[in-house]
Amino acid sequence: MDKMRMKIGEILLRKGLITSDQLEEALMEQCHSTEMINQTFIKKGLITEEEVLKVLSEHLSIPYVNLKDIKISPEAVEKVPAKFSRYYKIMPIEYKNNKLTIATYDPFCSVDDLSLFLKCDIKPLLASEKEIMAAIRNFYGLGAETVEGIIDKVQKEEKNDNIQNLTDKIENIETSSENASVIKLVNQIILEAYQKRATDIHIEPYRERMGLRYRIDGILYDANVPTEMNTFFSAIISRVKIMAKLDIVERRFPQDGRAIVRIGKEKLDLRISVLPTRHGEGIVIRILPTNMLFDLAKLGLEKDDLVSLEKLISKTHGVIFVTGPTGSGKTTTLYACLNKIKNVTNKIITLENPVEYELEGISQIQISPEIGFTFAQGLKSALRHDPDIMMVGEVRDFETAELAIRIALTGHLLFSTIHTNDSAGGVNRLVNIGIEPFLVASSVEAFIAQRLLRVICPNCKKEDDTVNKVVKDKIIEEIKVFYNNKKEFAEVTGIKADAVRFYKGQGCEECNFTGYNDRIAIYEILVLSKEIKELILEKASSDRIRVKAIQQGMRTLRISGWKKVLEGVSAVDEVMRITQME
Ligand SMILES: [Zn+2]
Repeated sequence: MDKMRMKIGEILLRKGLITSDQLEEALMEQCHSTEMINQTFIKKGLITEEEVLKVLSEHLSIPYVNLKDIKISPEAVEKVPAKFSRYYKIMPIEYKNNKLTIATYDPFCSVDDLSLFLKCDIKPLLASEKEIMAAIRNFYGLGAETVEGIIDKVQKEEKNDNIQNLTDKIENIETSSENASVIKLVNQIILEAYQKRATDIHIEPYRERMGLRYRIDGILYDANVPTEMNTFFSAIISRVKIMAKLDIVERRFPQDGRAIVRIGKEKLDLRISVLPTRHGEGIVIRILPTNMLFDLAKLGLEKDDLVSLEKLISKTHGVIFVTGPTGSGKTTTLYACLNKIKNVTNKIITLENPVEYELEGISQIQISPEIGFTFAQGLKSALRHDPDIMMVGEVRDFETAELAIRIALTGHLLFSTIHTNDSAGGVNRLVNIGIEPFLVASSVEAFIAQRLLRVICPNCKKEDDTVNKVVKDKIIEEIKVFYNNKKEFAEVTGIKADAVRFYKGQGCEECNFTGYNDRIAIYEILVLSKEIKELILEKASSDRIRVKAIQQGMRTLRISGWKKVLEGVSAVDEVMRITQME
């Protein structure tokens, strides 16, 4: 390598294109790099690539060509596999009489190796790197071998998994101008995300590369993009925009769209959002399976909580609030509740932004605040359709809260969500919005806080003896304190304190080496009992309400989490991460 560097450097020096000082300096910098020295000079702006290639062409008697002006023969492209042309950065031009003409920007490229591998004579021509890479892209398709690699892997795993765009009206028009490999590549990204159980795909432009991340069980993971994919970033963005029927020319404004794709037997609803960022457009694709089952019994509720929730949702009037941060599974819980109580004799209307899943037998209305169709507006209009049960996506202002409560007081059951950390905080939130405490006490039936806890992968689950005694004692202590020391640990948990075991996923192929393979909800249900209502009327603090509720048997998020840990469903770290210290 050093010899070669010296050679090119000397040629350039002799031609007077660089000074000996510049050569010296570049050679010093080169010590730790595999880059060719002419590239160093080009980067430094001392000479252009064209100048270098012309000098080298003259000196080495290798013709210099403009690849754009040259006709590429299909036989030549066929002769050289994609991985070779990419690895050696050569573009085959002509193949005749067992002689292959190639374009390269490295005059010292391994002609002998190529000749050996391809079993033919090689005649090199010099051309610029940019033109060679562009030609490779044009003739071999984008990321061809990357895609081939992914397809191979997928086919080995699942033979019948073919992905197919159902919303292909626009696609057909655009296909002619689109490279088939990009379509494949984007399909493979979606397929891979789906197989890894990702809920979101993040395609992000950075200054020098593209990022691809999947959100799995609530956590973002890097998808390890092969560097070749950087070249196709804008093509990938365009392809996704075409799938979502978005304007591919518009790059300054955010855009939202939707696409339905099929994987095997399953249909996926993709919600696509494009946002212009500093280094280009970023895309987030939310993956919503369309065959979701919303079953109250499968959400993760403890038996007594399930009984209590079923009792709550069988009421004919009142408001039930679900609380928790974004991504804590509130919508799933609400859908499961509605699914449980829907029947031919009641009418259910939902107001959502956005409508996430389509529910059979329920009228779902999409709210669009940007055109003035707000939750409050929707509530007023929906009332004229004489519903028995309503669901309002979110209560965040006085008008919506006041309407919701008035509707509940006139004999309707209403579900909604509100942003607070715990269940008791819901009371304060409503009062802060401007609702009189007496209205809260008379209309609200319950505040249900929830979080999603990752479930240990059953395939690589092992006992975790690294949990130290301090932590273990603290968990036992928290449970005892929670039950006011009135009950024995074994009585409430079914496990003797000295027999407590913890578990952890070791990481395996099935869980993408994360140790977790699903999520389950934990709940904290604050039912507004007579005593709680009295506290609300007294304007008591959330803390007092909370303490009272615990006395009356409310299981906190933290205790619900520890129960899942003791049952071996989840891990200590996970509960610590999800719930706050109390
Ligand atoms: Zn595993």
